[in-house]
Amino acid sequence: MTTGVGKRRDAILLDIEGTTTPLDFVHQVAFPYARSHAEEFIERHASLPEVIFDLEGLRREHAQDARLGRKPPSLTNGGTPRSFARYIDWLITADRKSTPLKSLQGKIWEEGYASRELVGRVFDDVPDALKRWQTEKRLVAIFSSGSVLAQQLLFAHTTAGDLTKYISAYFDTTTGGKLEAQSYTKIARALGRPPQEIVFLSDVTRELDAAAAAGIEVLLCDRPGNHPPPENAYTLIRSFVEL
Ligand SMILES: [Mg+2]
Repeated sequence: MTTGVGKRRDAILLDIEGTTTPLDFVHQVAFPYARSHAEEFIERHASLPEVIFDLEGLRREHAQDARLGRKPPSLTNGGTPRSFARYIDWLITADRKSTPLKSLQGKIWEEGYASRELVGRVFDDVPDALKRWQTEKRLVAIFSSGSVLAQQLLFAHTTAGDLTKYISAYFDTTTGGKLEAQSYTKIARALGRPPQEIVFLSDVTRELDAAAAAGIEVLLCDRPGNHPPPENAYTLIRSFVEL
């Protein structure tokens, strides 16, 4: 029993996949949606500056993949919608935490949430915990590899309704990687809190290593469907009721 853990912290930083949301949602719902809509989305929006920006980023990433001998599927004629979609598919399969990929995925998901084809999922204890933390005047923020847009969309369109009113800040890989201590230092600064006043929850021990190195308290989230973590000394949390 870990009740009381993290109680002293007045800022709570949450990972999404495997922490607020089942891994299944990401891998069985959100990623497949992005895969199956990528080509058609790029075709329809190829002239939008923000889409052009993402595609340029993907082109650079592709060049690097090719240079490193990773053999990505080729970008026909510098990148047709179909060949971009094949490359995106390859990146998703590799679970690449790529900023342009995540940015484009966010835009694809935006349409899915708007049409209600996509509905975000959170574990049952999450909505009540978010409400309670707000009542307790604790600050809640998200740190996920998914783009800030994707994070906001997920929490705005959950099966439990719009949860964004309980979340004060969102951070993605534009702040830094989740395995880098420096990212957590930056987040603490952005939240206006010393690291010691923040608790970070994630299902990935290497993320906890990085946050702990920045002086943040960390808890390992054990949720249904998570991968068993490697040997570690972190305190486990199975429900946000405990926090
Ligand atoms: Mg996670």
